[in-house]
Amino acid sequence: MSSDPILEVENLVTQFQTEEGVVKAVDHNSFSLQRGEVLGIVGESGSGKSVTAMSIMGLIEHPGEIKAGEIRYNGEDLLSKSDAEMRAIRGNEIAMVFQDPMTALNPVYTVGSQIQRIIRKHTDTTKQAARERTIELLDDVGIPEAEARVDDYPHQFSGGMRQRVLIAMAISCDPEILIADEPTTALDVTIEAQIFELLDRLQEKYGMSIILITHDLGVVAETCDRVAVVYAGRIIERAAVDDLFESPRHPYTRGLMRSIPNLRSAVSRLTPIEGRIPDLSALPPGCSFHPRCVHATEECRQIDPGLRTVAPGREAACIHAQGYGPYETTTGVDGDGADAVASDGGVDDE
Ligand code: ADP
Ligand code: MG
Repeated sequence: MSSDPILEVENLVTQFQTEEGVVKAVDHNSFSLQRGEVLGIVGESGSGKSVTAMSIMGLIEHPGEIKAGEIRYNGEDLLSKSDAEMRAIRGNEIAMVFQDPMTALNPVYTVGSQIQRIIRKHTDTTKQAARERTIELLDDVGIPEAEARVDDYPHQFSGGMRQRVLIAMAISCDPEILIADEPTTALDVTIEAQIFELLDRLQEKYGMSIILITHDLGVVAETCDRVAVVYAGRIIERAAVDDLFESPRHPYTRGLMRSIPNLRSAVSRLTPIEGRIPDLSALPPGCSFHPRCVHATEECRQIDPGLRTVAPGREAACIHAQGYGPYETTTGVDGDGADAVASDGGVDDE
């Protein structure tokens, strides 16, 4: 794959000092966003996805702290920027759509005035021009009769329309990168599909690069080019989306896939992964997924595998990654072959 990264995150460590101890929300993670691509970051709730986004945006606040690593935007080190410089970058260069469209809009101002305010804050624009641009943006994100709706208040919009307004706000200053953090969690599935279509269309129209954060691997299949799967603060698998769905290499990814309804077949099983993600201030020894993993061996309880190359272009943090067969949802058997792993156990690249 040709490499033209607009954003590079290297060995990022973001943690929170809490009464329970140090919460390692992002634990030595690296990934890059290529120009014009949609990168998915997927994982269960509490795995550090939003903290990753906030780290990129320069919005980590006490008791949080970026302890190590680098974040480079167009080659420039974002972690050495001043607050004023980061304020200029947010919106103009990197914009974010937040999870909850209810709380992100101010109920006492009209939808239009909130977008205009952002445009005028970031660019030298007359009031009239900002208003015209706002109507254009509302139209762009699929608000019908935008000119008539621009002076409405947020409560006059449905949830899906409010999310469209937030997307209009995010793209109002023509950012290079859009980070969408679970942009459809609050919406029903039909509206959800429309929002993803919208992001797709805007990505093409404006040539943006997008980071799409979600807990739903099904969403990734529909929208992303590449994906990073996170578990308990760490990236545990990275792959091109097609490769990932053809042969997921980490048992956690395989588990997430089993929990997608109707991925390839109407008869596929829906099986959530047993257990829950560990307390990030007290990770288990060895592989942090081992307590939930049906394939875990003694080694997994002791050795922290780290992200490693397991096949050409494929990385996973699992010492048994080479032992899993192709993924098959249609038969109701995922072909994981615990036997294959057992007989292959311990024989890997170490
Ligand atoms: P996700 O977005 O994947 O659901 P988050 O990135 O929001 O997860 O959170 C990752 C971890 O960081 C969680 O354990 C969460 O409790 C912790 N965390 C996030 N923000 C704070 C904070 N302000 N103070 C303490 N812990 C936090
Ligand atoms: Mg989140």
